[in-house]
Amino acid sequence: MAKKGKTPAQDPAPEQAAADPDAPPPPEPVPPVSVIYCAVCTYPPEYCEFGASLTRCKEWLKEEHSDLFDKYYSEEALQTKVGTLSLEAQQKLEKDMAKKEVKAEAKAEAALKKKMASQIIIKRIERTKRKHITSVFGLEAFDIDLKKAAKQFASKFATGASVSKNPQGLDEIVVSGDVSDEILEMIENEVGVLKGIPADNVELVEEKKKKGGE
Ligand SMILES: [Zn+2]
Repeated sequence: MAKKGKTPAQDPAPEQAAADPDAPPPPEPVPPVSVIYCAVCTYPPEYCEFGASLTRCKEWLKEEHSDLFDKYYSEEALQTKVGTLSLEAQQKLEKDMAKKEVKAEAKAEAALKKKMASQIIIKRIERTKRKHITSVFGLEAFDIDLKKAAKQFASKFATGASVSKNPQGLDEIVVSGDVSDEILEMIENEVGVLKGIPADNVELVEEKKKKGGE
């Protein structure tokens, strides 16, 4: 007992030293709540089955949180869960789920295909012998805000640029001057808002003034 306080380095922390056996125990530190969300469907893993991507969700969960995977999808877990459903209901449930998944996958694939097939056309248009304008068509297929892109071109080239309808009634950006090569370069370098456009989808086109026109 007399030793107490003589070896300061080994002294217990003050609050522990003061602890009296009759006092209530100190409160347990509460660990921060960490909620896991599925990286595939964004629901918490116990709700993945309500999304349309259960197969991929399960793959993800098995990879990232095998304990949770076992909890939700092990043989026993499934037994307990479907135990209350009739066989018919189970089969219907599985069938519905499979259908839903196929639909969702097809939709995602179609959207991607459409995007990859979309073409950006940068057209140099001759107005007079010395004057050109450049039109840029198709950027919106890559989720690019046309107004912002026009603004970016205007400030980059210190010229006029605006969004207008082409003869087919579709939006395009019209920039004064011949800046087609520069715009192509900006797309390749993903400058400003011009992000995520595969350069292979961009085509440069030249429109000459028709001879003997006027
Ligand atoms: Zn999920």
